[in-house]
Amino acid sequence: MKLLYPFAKRFIAGSDLKTAIPSIRKINESGYFSSIDILGESVITRQQAAEAKLDYLQLFESLDSINHSLDFSIKLSQLGLDIDKRFCQENIIQLARVLGNHTIRLDMEDSSRTQSTLDICEEVHRIHPCIGQAIQAYLYRSEDDVRHCIENKISLRLCKGAYKEPSEVAYQSMDKIRENFLKLACQLLKEGHQPAIATHDENLLVKILDFISQESIDPKSFYFEMLYGVRRDLQKILKEKGYRVRVYVPYGKAWLPYTLRRLVEKKENLFFVITHLFRETLGLRKLR
Ligand SMILES: Cc1cc2nc3c(=O)[nH]c(=O)nc-3n(C[C@H](O)[C@H](O)[C@H](O)COP(=O)(O)OP(=O)(O)OC[C@H]3O[C@@H](n4cnc5c(N)ncnc54)[C@H](O)[C@@H]3O)c2cc1C
Repeated sequence: MKLLYPFAKRFIAGSDLKTAIPSIRKINESGYFSSIDILGESVITRQQAAEAKLDYLQLFESLDSINHSLDFSIKLSQLGLDIDKRFCQENIIQLARVLGNHTIRLDMEDSSRTQSTLDICEEVHRIHPCIGQAIQAYLYRSEDDVRHCIENKISLRLCKGAYKEPSEVAYQSMDKIRENFLKLACQLLKEGHQPAIATHDENLLVKILDFISQESIDPKSFYFEMLYGVRRDLQKILKEKGYRVRVYVPYGKAWLPYTLRRLVEKKENLFFVITHLFRETLGLRKLR
């Protein structure tokens, strides 16, 4: 799997805090916002979850000098969701206590974890309103979840969804997923609490920009959000149009599951990896 690392480097800011900090600072100095993710998920021991929590605490401290509010993306399975829900919730509360005006955003994982993730978010939000949530447009249930979160003033990041889900719970066709994304995005733009519209899909972005202009939505009432290393051209265009663009910046040693998800999203990525493997194995280099 080490062979995939050259590909992973396109999508992650570094393999540890020290290597990631310069990229995070550069993003912020260039006028973007950031949501920082320490890679890791599906831990199976309390010790691993405690270590992940310590990594986040260390990250908060090292970013003290950045003067606008940051977003920290966290997967609950990284903080022990699969071990014990209460233990996981306590870990999140401990992080939320030290956050000041920064935000914790819970990534949404596969559908077996949707309900417990939303439950924890809602419960912690009552005491720490700095916690927000990601929501996946491919799930049938998301329409209800979005409405519920809007009522409770929970800030949402809308994405399509990156896991393989069965037809019992999720739309399978891209047309249906796009249709639901657009519907939920428009609802969030009108009624949501600092929502983030997270997509690189240009067709959707054009429709969303039309909606924003028709409805005179305030550009400071939401974010566009995109992944580190993906469609930097679109990130720049949106920033130059005066929108707030947040970049999702992952780093850390546990880069494999994240990289595999990015790999299957786009067939050109598979082509990149296969070409790279061939070049390396067969010694096909231009530089000698
Ligand atoms: C900020 C952010 C946070 C996210 N958080 C979550 C989460 O918490 N849970 C979850 O399930 N999913 C999450 N995702 C992933 C998301 O669900 C989609 O899988 C992913 O964004 C691809 O969908 P898309 O809307 O960008 O459109 P697509 O139609 O897949 O892509 C549109 C265009 O974007 C570019 N592009 C997209 N993906 C790639 C890639 N991997 N490599 C190169 N180019 C690419 C290509 O130009 C492509 O044609 C997140 C995505 C973003 C942007």
